[in-house]
Amino acid sequence: MRIAILALQGAFIEHEQMLQQLGVETFEIRQIRDWQQPKDGLILPGGESTVQMRLLKELSLFAPVRRAILDGLPVFGTCAGMILLSEGYLGTMDIRVRRNAYGRQLGSFYTTSRVEDIGDDIPMTFIRAPYIEEVLSNRCSVLSEIDGRIVAASQGKQLATAFHPELNDDFRIHQYFLQWITS
Ligand code: GLN
Repeated sequence: MRIAILALQGAFIEHEQMLQQLGVETFEIRQIRDWQQPKDGLILPGGESTVQMRLLKELSLFAPVRRAILDGLPVFGTCAGMILLSEGYLGTMDIRVRRNAYGRQLGSFYTTSRVEDIGDDIPMTFIRAPYIEEVLSNRCSVLSEIDGRIVAASQGKQLATAFHPELNDDFRIHQYFLQWITS
């Protein structure tokens, strides 16, 4: 198994380290040539969604990435990565996301909570986090809510979290995503 990690900007190294600890081979996507390598899944890391969007377009990655996800490439987006999957960005997930949604002070916090299908007491680190304001179709399942706000969802082989599981040492979210690829 080889997992591609979008490495244009943001917290991609932490995903690489987590997958390496799980014994999974990864490679970085920095340009279209990287993208052409075979891959079994894709990670869209946290960072700054506006910058990532601009770079995806400038580097001619936007259309091929979108096409591959629509064709079924498993994808996991965290935080800014979740924004990229949403309506108005790549638009492959039927979700509308509110950016910097908790206000300047409240966007960064830590909690633990349940994620459906995955487990209880999952560590959740939020950094200037978005949340899912609305799920736009019944193809999309809500996996977790904090204070009535949706913070994790899935749709087919697309997984999105508003928080950063790669910043804690709990592997369950990454393992859940990898199971989609191995099963
Ligand atoms: N606030 C960022 C954005 O809007 C997301 C923050 C993050 O990825 N940690 O893109």
